[in-house]
Amino acid sequence: MSVSLHDRYARQRLIPDWDQDLLAASTAVIVGVGALGNEVAKNLALAGVGRLILCDPDTVAASNLSRAVLLGPGDVGQPKVAAAATALARLAPEVTVETRQAELVTGVGLGELADAGVVLGCLDSRRARLRLLGRTALVGAPLVDGGTFAWGGEIRLRVDPTEACYGCSLTPHQRGASDLPWSCAEIRPDGPQPASIVPTSIVAGWMALAALRLLFAGPPEYRMLRIDGATGHTAPVALTRDADCPHHRPLDGPVHPLPVDHRATVGDLLDALPAGAEPFTWAAFPVPGQCHHCGETYDHGAAQPGAQGEPEQPEQPGQQGEPGRCRRCGRAVRVRRGERLRDADPGLRLHGLGVAPGEILAVQLPRPLAASDEEAFQGSFQWHRLASTGDTGRILASQSIFRAL
Ligand SMILES: [Zn+2]
Ligand SMILES: [Zn+2]
Repeated sequence: MSVSLHDRYARQRLIPDWDQDLLAASTAVIVGVGALGNEVAKNLALAGVGRLILCDPDTVAASNLSRAVLLGPGDVGQPKVAAAATALARLAPEVTVETRQAELVTGVGLGELADAGVVLGCLDSRRARLRLLGRTALVGAPLVDGGTFAWGGEIRLRVDPTEACYGCSLTPHQRGASDLPWSCAEIRPDGPQPASIVPTSIVAGWMALAALRLLFAGPPEYRMLRIDGATGHTAPVALTRDADCPHHRPLDGPVHPLPVDHRATVGDLLDALPAGAEPFTWAAFPVPGQCHHCGETYDHGAAQPGAQGEPEQPEQPGQQGEPGRCRRCGRAVRVRRGERLRDADPGLRLHGLGVAPGEILAVQLPRPLAASDEEAFQGSFQWHRLASTGDTGRILASQSIFRAL
């Protein structure tokens, strides 16, 4: 007996406040497709969220399999986002899944975060979570963030960038460079706190419930929830806003649409901007330089990947050298990095330099006549948003533009 697609939601359509059509028109961005991200993606896809953007730079390891509902033994070594998307297509074929095998900053543009109905943070490191807080604050995207510990976990909501956040509960030192898994740092500072599938699925269930409440009925009454499997307590926790927490800053001023997208070249972008404008990226890219041993010039600095975090350059395969090595003399070179797009080869594509789809770029305009230098500096920045493309995720996945960073 065949079952029409509408029938699969017949039961949940009866839920008060539920709106299946609204859900089908919604986008959720899932940042981190490990244990939590798998469960959250499964829940939202089965519920019928129309479009999921999955962002994770990692590949599947055998140790992921005991906690990842969308991954199987045959997926080991494959990108997590691709393996999860394949499983989701089987579970919920009508849901569009876009994959970004990249870190957040190079995988999901600010414009995409701004357009999303909800952003779900499924990350396990403090640095990544703080970066997500900062990115969502820039565009006011509602964030549901989760984490697990051995017998429980926490979820935190930030519906408005002015509300207290995870960063508010950290000391300035903790907000610095540390990259400890967040649950380790908070619960037991002396060692890792592994979790099983059980608290993972419970926390992911709460996260998906919060996301659905946000989409249908407005935000839940709580902003933080602590789930403790030992005491049986699951209760809201009051949060205090730290005025010094830096993860609440919005973009100031209007965002101007650009006629080009992330697949355009640097030259195309410069042509689309006012004359003399200086566009900047959010993630530094390698810029052209010179080997100080033999004088070899790198006209495509990005083709000499050195440190982590550099996107592939599929267009210049012949010019790629060994990471961090001069392609002529083979000695170690220091790859200079920068955010100023005018320093890049104008023929390189923006996505190859780590510019995410739908990104909003900071653009400095030529210095206007102003009363003071400070006034000129402050008044000269604008925000410009790259055009969105219809089927960005699948195109990116098939071209392997992003690799594990
Ligand atoms: Zn904060
Ligand atoms: Zn050299």
